[in-house]
Amino acid sequence: MKIADGIHRIGSGLVNAYLVADGGGVTVVDAGMPGYWSELRAELAAMGRGLEDLRAIVLTHGHSDHIGFAEKARKERGVPVLVHEADALLARGRVKNPAKGTGPVRPLPLLRFIALALLKGGWHIDRLGEVATFGDGATLDVPGSPRVILVPGHTPGNAALHLADRGVLFVGDSLATIAVTTGVVGPQIAPFTADADQALASLDRLAGIEAGWILPGHGEPWTAGTTAAIAKVRESAAAARKDRR
Ligand SMILES: [Zn+2]
Ligand SMILES: [Zn+2]
Repeated sequence: MKIADGIHRIGSGLVNAYLVADGGGVTVVDAGMPGYWSELRAELAAMGRGLEDLRAIVLTHGHSDHIGFAEKARKERGVPVLVHEADALLARGRVKNPAKGTGPVRPLPLLRFIALALLKGGWHIDRLGEVATFGDGATLDVPGSPRVILVPGHTPGNAALHLADRGVLFVGDSLATIAVTTGVVGPQIAPFTADADQALASLDRLAGIEAGWILPGHGEPWTAGTTAAIAKVRESAAAARKDRR
């Protein structure tokens, strides 16, 4: 699905992977589920590109539903996979997922997520044999030249990627616009977050970034800007806190 010039999405919106194209080739931002591989080929074809144009896979963090087909692409096609240094061991399956439970759950939306995972091979995900790492503030030498903004909390190395010239901000799971566990829509802290307080505080790092397209790991694009998105996340967190009392 085309989102903007040279920016495409794979997946129905529940679990997203993105493609960024420029004259030098294509970068994949998050690799969704393993079964997205065939959709990757189809989406590349729709962009007039092919697997030979893949230059890099950049992971916003080390969770399995973002690793998807990354190891396959690395092993079979030699595509380098990059992740923030604080999530390298998680992406390689060398440390346990730091997520603290799921938070609230509603059966039907959760079932939809589980069905997608079953359908797309999400129950067994090959962790990465090797990753390249980056630090906060780096501008990555891959198509699209994303700038890294570390947004710790969801995981220690959760990072957003900003394409300033295109007004695009990939936020990974810094925030989600749908909770896969409840089906609730709108900017909110993503399920499976390790440290929700830190995740909320870290959103300050995204404040003031100009982005007409905020593209999350889960949910539809947000087009009303970072300030409004952050305000919505904080509202939803405050409401959830009240509910728990
Ligand atoms: Zn995650
Ligand atoms: Zn996720």
